Amino acid sequence: MLRFAPSPTGDMHIGNLRVALFNYIVSRQRDEDLIIRIEDTDKERNIEGKDAEIVALLDLFGIKYKEVIYQSKNLKFHQALAVDLLHKKKAFNCFCTNEELERKREEAKKAKKAYRYDGTCLKLPPEEVIDNPKPFSVRIKKPDSPVKFTDIIKGEFEFAPDDIDSFIILRVDKTPTYNFACAVDDMLNDISLVIRGEDHLSNTPKQIHIRKELGYEKDIEYAHLPIILNQEGKKMSKRDNASSVKWLLEEGFLPSAIANYLILLGNKTPKEIFTLDEAVEFFELKNISKSPAKFDIDMLRHINREHLKNMDEKELSRYVGFADGDIGALAKIYLEEASTTKELKEKISKIFGKKDIPDEYKENAEIIKKAIQEAEFFEEFDDLKKYITDKTGLKGKNLFKPLRIILTGSEHGPDLSDIYKYLKNYIQEVVK
Ligand code: GLU
Repeated sequence: MLRFAPSPTGDMHIGNLRVALFNYIVSRQRDEDLIIRIEDTDKERNIEGKDAEIVALLDLFGIKYKEVIYQSKNLKFHQALAVDLLHKKKAFNCFCTNEELERKREEAKKAKKAYRYDGTCLKLPPEEVIDNPKPFSVRIKKPDSPVKFTDIIKGEFEFAPDDIDSFIILRVDKTPTYNFACAVDDMLNDISLVIRGEDHLSNTPKQIHIRKELGYEKDIEYAHLPIILNQEGKKMSKRDNASSVKWLLEEGFLPSAIANYLILLGNKTPKEIFTLDEAVEFFELKNISKSPAKFDIDMLRHINREHLKNMDEKELSRYVGFADGDIGALAKIYLEEASTTKELKEKISKIFGKKDIPDEYKENAEIIKKAIQEAEFFEEFDDLKKYITDKTGLKGKNLFKPLRIILTGSEHGPDLSDIYKYLKNYIQEVVK
């Protein structure tokens, strides 16, 4: 079983979508199920409706999963297993207040030492624990020996007991911390491989330690994906519009192209343009680069254009407000100067919208427009051209500039004869 475990705390980041795509691809390659686990235990950071938004995005990207589960539903298991660790003396009640802990953290900082829990409550005699009316959290005891694991992308890791530390697994309100809930759920969900962002790398030894103390013997594999950098070489954050999947979709990037780009990023692939189904054939986690990848919107634009070229014409026409293959074919001609559905829609709207005609062409434009309005239907552009010249006496620049503006709303653009092929059935609507 694989899992994608988003927190419903904000708009989906492209890094998270990348994690979801990789989990989906590998689940298909291994013929194992994928579950979506909404990590909603941090009540203060949860934003209502974000869970549904994330699931809708996964559907849009063609990521199939067995079920969506909510981590908060497992609260009773988290608490029961924390009690189990207390019974086995692998965890202890910690009565230290936030103020005390903060003071010790400050002291460590001043002494330029890494802060570690000093074991105050580990040494309490049982009488002091039993009758203690003070609020308490539950801490797991740090391991006796280093925790080692192999990451499929990044290789071998070893964390010393002191770096894992005796950390909190249940807060004072008896809700689980992220590491505890995550470690327990990966065990309860029978997860075989965790693919997630490298910001979680230092959590992994803690989660392995928790499961070991719970007596769980199955080895879970790990793959931590390097972060995605912006053009300045900094981590892509909310401040970078392109980090939001929603923003990219609104800008007119296709889900298939975004997926293609995120799979290509920092990877070795046999080709540049592919579908998600094709990626399942060749994808290998171990080919993912260990170092961060830089997001390049121009590359995404290029990939988007290629996906638009390959798209069925009728389907493409829907993105620009029609349901007609001819309009899809017309839009494809405009891929010379546009690379998103938003840009294509602007081009097509200009053709069908009210035209802004510069003064110098106004007079001839009116004459040509009237001629077309009175014309019969012409199959070929050359016949239309000949008809207008015969009827109005206009030719050369006096004909072509105003005609182009009337037909396209722009002074420049693709060949009119190419456009006319797909526009001829709409000609009266275009010149109205
Ligand atoms: N909920 C965590 C996050 O969104 C992911 C945790 C995990 O994959 O283990 O960053």
